[in-house]
Amino acid sequence: MYRGRFAPTPSGPLHLGSLVAAVGSYLDAHAHRGQWLVRIEDVDKPRAVPGAADIILGQLEAHGLTWDGDVIFQSERDKVYQSYIDSLTSAGFIYQCDCSRKAIRERGGIYEGYCRTRQPRPTPYALRYINSAPVNQFNDRALGVQHGDTNTCAEDFVVKRRDSLYAYQLAVVVDDIEQDITDIVRGSDLVVPSFWQLTLWQHITSAQPRMMHLPLVTSDDGRKLSKQNHAPAINSQNAPDNLLIALNYLGIDAHELSETRKIDEILAFAVQKWRKKWHITAA
Ligand code: GLU
Repeated sequence: MYRGRFAPTPSGPLHLGSLVAAVGSYLDAHAHRGQWLVRIEDVDKPRAVPGAADIILGQLEAHGLTWDGDVIFQSERDKVYQSYIDSLTSAGFIYQCDCSRKAIRERGGIYEGYCRTRQPRPTPYALRYINSAPVNQFNDRALGVQHGDTNTCAEDFVVKRRDSLYAYQLAVVVDDIEQDITDIVRGSDLVVPSFWQLTLWQHITSAQPRMMHLPLVTSDDGRKLSKQNHAPAINSQNAPDNLLIALNYLGIDAHELSETRKIDEILAFAVQKWRKKWHITAA
C-alpha cells in the first residue's frame, strides 16, 4: 500500500515552492491510489511560527489538497524520538559530542568522529550517531542515481542537538518509519540529507522508502524560493491559478484545462497526467 506525505516546517505560510512539493507528493499518492498524509515538522520548536501550521493546513484545503488520517505534529513526539535514541544508545550507536561548529570548521569542516573516543563529554553536548554503514548512493525516481560526497555521507551526524532538541534527521526518519511511509516525494533541496536519512532507515528497518525529488522553484535571480529569502505566501483566493502554475513547474502541461477553474477537476486531470508522465500503473 502506497503511503506518501507532505511534511512542511511551519516557519511561515506556504509559498509557491512549498506548494509545488505539496502538489507533487499529492499527485504521486493519488496516481498510485495510495494515501497522502500531512505532518507538521515543528521539531525545531523555536523556529515554528505561532499560527503558521493552521495557515498551511488552510492553504492545503483551499487548494483541494485534502489529506488522509490525522495530521501529526513533531513538537508532540519527544517521547517517540527519545525511545529511538534510547535503543540506539543501548545498541552502542550514540555518543556525546561538545564540539562547536567553529572547532569542526577549524579541523577541516567534516566531523571526523573527534569525540568518539573521548567519552563522556561536559554538558551541554549533542548526541551523534556512529555511522558505521553510510549510504552514499540511492536511486531517485525523478533524478536517477544520486551519488553523495563520501566524507559527508560517512559523518557521524547529530541526532539530538546541544540545545536538547531532537535533530531533524532523526525526527523525519522516525516519523516516516512510524507512519509506514513508502514514498518520499519532496523538493530537490533535500537530496543531500537523503543519504543520512537512508543510512538511519537501513539501521532501523529493512523496509526502504522510494525517493523522488522535485524541481525547485527559483526566483528571478536563480535563488531557491524559501521563507528565509521572503518568498511571498500563496494567496488561497487564487487557488486554481496557483495549481496551474505548480503543475507547470512539475512538467504537466495543463493547456487543455484553460477553461476550467474548478480545483477538483484540475487535480483529477493532473493525476491522470502524472500517471502517464511517470509510467504509473495504478492498481
Ligand atoms: N520539513 C521539511 C521542509 O519543510 C521537509 C521534510 C521532508 O519532506 O522530508 O523543508
